[in-house]
Amino acid sequence: MKDETCIFCKIIAKEIPTVVIAETANTLSFVDIMPANFGHSLVIPKGHYANIHEMPEEITGEVFREAKRLATAVKSAVGAEGVNIIMNNGAASGQVIFHAHVHIIPRFENDGFKWWPTKEYETPTQMQELGEKIKLHLQ
Ligand code: AMP
Ligand code: ZN
Repeated sequence: MKDETCIFCKIIAKEIPTVVIAETANTLSFVDIMPANFGHSLVIPKGHYANIHEMPEEITGEVFREAKRLATAVKSAVGAEGVNIIMNNGAASGQVIFHAHVHIIPRFENDGFKWWPTKEYETPTQMQELGEKIKLHLQ
């Protein structure tokens, strides 16, 4: 399963060069071309799935098992103090390449990154209500 217009499918097909770190039956891990910190790497499924919602369960498991393995290797390789494992799903979340991928980003104290700002709940019960609502949507 391949999308002819997809840059990550082209990487899997070896039509675009990349720095491969690891490969399993259903995943490929490689170095990110525009790193947030040096060592920033990506894990992708070999099949073309646009995002996490499209990935079958067993592929999701393999991708995230590999993400953990890569996170440990990246942290050790660059001497990071922490690591972010991030997956953007949908344009609204910041996804730019619509072939599912997990970012492994090594982090250092005082590396200057600021993450998203937080909100305050608008009512005393809103937090509880959100938890209940999400529970109803679990499948
Ligand atoms: P996202 O915003 O989650 O869709 O992130 C896409 C990621 O893919 C970015 O971190 C890019 O730097 C990375 N990327 C794009 N093209 C390549 C490429 N040819 N090789 C490696 N990483 C890439
Ligand atoms: Zn693809």
